[in-house]
Amino acid sequence: MNLQNLKGVGDKTLLSFYEANIYTLDDLLTYYPYRYQILIPTVLDNKISDDTVIINAIVSDISRVAYIKKNLNVLRMKVITNGKLISLVIYNRAYLRPNLKIGQKIIATGKYDVHKNLFTASNLKFGELLEKQIIPVYHSIKNIKNAVLEKIIKEGLKEALDLEDYIPQKYLEKYHFINKDEAMRVVHQPNNEELLNIARNRLIYEELFLFLFKVQYLKKIKVNEETIIKKIDKNLINDFINNLPFKLTNDQLKSINEGLDDFTSKKRMNRLLLGDVGSGKTIVATVLLYANFLAGYQGAFMAPTELLATQHYDSIKKLLEKLGLKVELLIGSMTKKNKNDIMKKVSNNEVDILIGTHAILNENLSFANLGFVITDEQHRFGVNQRNILQEKGVKPDVLFMSATPIPRTYALTIYGDMDTSIIKEKPNGRKDIITCVKKESELKDVLYKVLEEIKLNHQIYVVAPMILENEDMPLKTVLSLKEKFDSAFHGKVPTEVLHGKLKAKEKDEIMNNFKTGQTKILISTTVIEVGVDVPLATMMIIFNAERFGLATLHQLRGRVGRNDMQSYCYLICNEDVKRLKVLEESNDGFYISEKDFEFRGEGDLFGERQSGDMTFKIADLRKNYDVLLKALDDVKEWIDSEEYLKVTSYVKIIEELKFNN
Ligand code: ADP
Ligand code: MG
Repeated sequence: MNLQNLKGVGDKTLLSFYEANIYTLDDLLTYYPYRYQILIPTVLDNKISDDTVIINAIVSDISRVAYIKKNLNVLRMKVITNGKLISLVIYNRAYLRPNLKIGQKIIATGKYDVHKNLFTASNLKFGELLEKQIIPVYHSIKNIKNAVLEKIIKEGLKEALDLEDYIPQKYLEKYHFINKDEAMRVVHQPNNEELLNIARNRLIYEELFLFLFKVQYLKKIKVNEETIIKKIDKNLINDFINNLPFKLTNDQLKSINEGLDDFTSKKRMNRLLLGDVGSGKTIVATVLLYANFLAGYQGAFMAPTELLATQHYDSIKKLLEKLGLKVELLIGSMTKKNKNDIMKKVSNNEVDILIGTHAILNENLSFANLGFVITDEQHRFGVNQRNILQEKGVKPDVLFMSATPIPRTYALTIYGDMDTSIIKEKPNGRKDIITCVKKESELKDVLYKVLEEIKLNHQIYVVAPMILENEDMPLKTVLSLKEKFDSAFHGKVPTEVLHGKLKAKEKDEIMNNFKTGQTKILISTTVIEVGVDVPLATMMIIFNAERFGLATLHQLRGRVGRNDMQSYCYLICNEDVKRLKVLEESNDGFYISEKDFEFRGEGDLFGERQSGDMTFKIADLRKNYDVLLKALDDVKEWIDSEEYLKVTSYVKIIEELKFNN
C-alpha cells in the first residue's frame, strides 16, 4: 500500500511525510499520537468563568455575517444550548454561513460571558459531541494540520493492516494482550480511556520487547567473542599520566584501568564510558588511544560534529604528537585533495590516530591496522553508523562515550550489551556552578551580573527555545533576545546568534568567534554542542527554563564551569516551577537524572523529544519503566529458551543484527 494511494494525500502532503521520515503505511500508523485531548460537553451556568469550554448547541435563528476589514469578518448567530438561548460569535468563518440552517447541530469551543450572554467561539464544528470525546494529538508535521493527519490515518486504518506482531505467542497469552491491528485502531481512534490504555500498553510492551531482544541477543553473541590480546607497556602509560598538566581523578584512573584490562584480555572491549559533562572523558579516551598505539594498532575517534572533532583533534594532538604519534583529522568540509591524502596515509599506516566526524565512515577509507574505535556522544549516531566503523578493523575494541547521565539501573537495561565505566567525580579544583532561578521581571539583576563578567573578560551563553516568534507559543526567541541584549549594552558588547537554520559554515564561523573570545555573548537555541569547551565562558542564561527537562538543563549548564573560576547559571522562567529547585541544589548529573525520573509526569516539551538514542515511537523509558523491567524478564527467559529460532520475524531480525555487527 503506497501512501499516495490514500485519500487526501497529494504530492505536497507526500513530501511533508517524507520529510518527517514517513514513507510507508507502517510508518504512518506508528506515528502515534503523543497525547490525547479529552472533550466533555459543558452545560453553561451563570458563574463567571474565563475557562475555555466546549458546548453542544442548535442554531435557532438565521446567522449574519459582517465584513469588518479586508481580512476580518464576523459571523453572529443565536443558538440554544441545554435549553438556554445565547448569542454566539466567531471570527473569519463567513464561509460557514450557508450551512448554518435553523436546527443545525453544532459543537462550539470558546468562552462564555455571562453578563453579555455571549459565547465567543474559537472553533465551530457540525454535529453533536456525545458524552466524551478523545481526540488524538500528533506531533505536528510541516504543512499538515492535526485534523488532516487524523483523517489520513483514518483512511490508512481502513486498509487491511496485517501488521507484524513481535510479541511471542507465549506472552500474548500470559498478559491477555489484544490483537495488534485492533490496538492500532484504538490508539488512533479511541472511544474510551480504558480500552485506550489497554491498547497503548500492548504496543509499548511490544516495542520494548523487541528493543530488549536486540540488546540481549547482541550481548549473548558478544560474550563469547574473542580478540587478540594487546601487549602494553604499563610503565609508558604511567609516565604519560604522570606528565599530564593535571592530576587524574580516581574515577578517571579506574575507567582507564578497566579499558586497559579489556585490551590485555582475550575479551573484546565493548564498553560505555558514562560521565557527566566536564567530567573529563576525553583524557581517558586519549590514554586508551595511546595504549592501543603502544600495542601496535591504529585508533579512530568519531565525534558527532565537525566542531567537536576539531576540538578533540587539537587537544589529543597536543598531548600525543610529542610522543611521536601521528594524529590526523578527517572532516567533511576539508578539500577533496586533503581528504584523499589523509585517506591514503591511513591505509598506508602512516597515521596512528584518525579523528573525525562521520566522514570517517566514507567507504573508500580503509585502515591498515585498526585496533580501537571510540565514538563520542554515541547517542547521536545511529546503530548502523557505529557498526560500519567497527567493520573497518578486524574486530577492533570499541568504546562509546556519553554525557547523558542516566540512572544506573536504567543504563544497565538499555546498554545491557555493554560493560560500563562511570566517572562521577569532578576534576580537582572545579567549583560547582552557582545556579539561580529568576523571574523575567528580575532580568535587570541578571544583566548587571552579565556586565560584571564581561568586565572580567569572561563570556556568556544565552539559550532560548525558539528562533522566530510563533503565535501559538509565547516563548523567547534568539532574535528578540539579541535585540534586547544589544539595547541593554548599547551594542557595545560583541553578541552573536546561533541556531539550526544557519548554514554549517556560518555556524562554524560563529562558534569559532566565540571560542577565540572575539564574541562575548552567544545567543543560541539548544544547538550548541554538548561537548563544546570554551574555558572563559562562565555564565549560562536559559530563558523559558520551564520548557526543558532537568537533564537537558543540566547538560546545557555543563557548557560553563569548565575551569577553576566560579561559574553561574540563571534559569529564567515566569512560573514557579518546583523541579527547577533541584538544579539550584545540586550539580550532580546522576542525582539530577534520578530526580528528573521522579518528575516524570511533568511536561518536557523539548527534552523529551531530544532524549538521544531512545527514539521509541510509543514507549517512554521514564514513564514505562515498569513495563521495561517486565519485558526484560520475559526477553531473557525467551532468549534462553532459544524459541526465537522458530519464529520467522525474529530470524529476520537476527540476520540483520549479525550483518550489522
Ligand atoms: P567531557 O567529559 O565533557 O568530555 P572533557 O574531557 O572535555 O569533558 O574535559 C573538560 C575539561 O576538563 C577539559 O578542558 C580537560 O582538559 C579538563 N580536565 C579533564 N580532566 C581533568 C582533571 N583530572 N583535572 C583538571 N582538569 C581536567
Ligand atoms: Mg566530551
